[in-house]
Amino acid sequence: MTNGIEQDGLFLRFWGVRGSVGVAGPGTNIYGGHTSCIEVSAGGRRFIIDAGTGLVPFGMQLEARAGDHFDILLTHLHHDHVIGLMLFAPCFVPGVTIDIYCGNLGGESAEESLKRLFSPPLFPVTFDALPSKVRFIGFSAGEVLTIGGLEIPTCPLNHPDGATGYRFDVGDASAVVLTDMEHEGDASDPMSASLVSFSEGAGVIVYDATFDEDDYPRYRGWGHSTWEAGVALARAAQAGSLVCFHHAPEYDDARIALMEKKMKADFSGGSFAREGETLTIGKTGSMVQSNIRKAVL
Ligand SMILES: [Zn+2]
Ligand SMILES: [Zn+2]
Repeated sequence: MTNGIEQDGLFLRFWGVRGSVGVAGPGTNIYGGHTSCIEVSAGGRRFIIDAGTGLVPFGMQLEARAGDHFDILLTHLHHDHVIGLMLFAPCFVPGVTIDIYCGNLGGESAEESLKRLFSPPLFPVTFDALPSKVRFIGFSAGEVLTIGGLEIPTCPLNHPDGATGYRFDVGDASAVVLTDMEHEGDASDPMSASLVSFSEGAGVIVYDATFDEDDYPRYRGWGHSTWEAGVALARAAQAGSLVCFHHAPEYDDARIALMEKKMKADFSGGSFAREGETLTIGKTGSMVQSNIRKAVL
């Protein structure tokens, strides 16, 4: 490992696993309370999926210096996926460059939207006042990105205002991240069929499982899915494992643990993401290895 980046293979680390809003307190000790942020090390290059509050502890331990570069791939622009940018330590380091990719605005970049967030009276520091250089790159979900020589397929997700799914392939290993999204039916409907082909043979699918089937009917149309739909997708795509993500803020550890237990009884390759957990992705269609520990900060 050099500068915190694994040189070979494909690794994921969860810095924030919660959806909608960050939570704290004793009921979050096991799964964590920070919102969406996943570090991906792919063939020696680091990518950051989403800039939720989990980006803050991630940025604090990076000790960024002039010349460092970061690629942030946003799933979309809802607050729980961008609010951590405001306190991302590398933003405040001269000579750092940060590229922010956004795919849910029909090709437009996130510049205009995020500049609204980074402006008084919402926040006192504008992007123009930051000592780092932040660049905004827009694309349309469904395009294949090429960053640092790595091809990263993307796909559109069913979510209010849209969202983008990402796939990483390194050698035989592959990981798919699908959040935020609501399932639309069984595998025979067009959206699900495209998700199945997008996720085909993945070592892991990280999946928006905000709800379970008991709760879901109350939240239909909110743009989130269930672990049961995730299991159906994992089976149809012949994925090795499923990691549920975007935990509802009102669910405490006991509630999430119960969902996880039920899921494991149905699908042994399933789990619920824990803040601080790292995944080592195996070859296509195989299980992943998980190393669970609390984040260093
Ligand atoms: Zn969200
Ligand atoms: Zn959202």
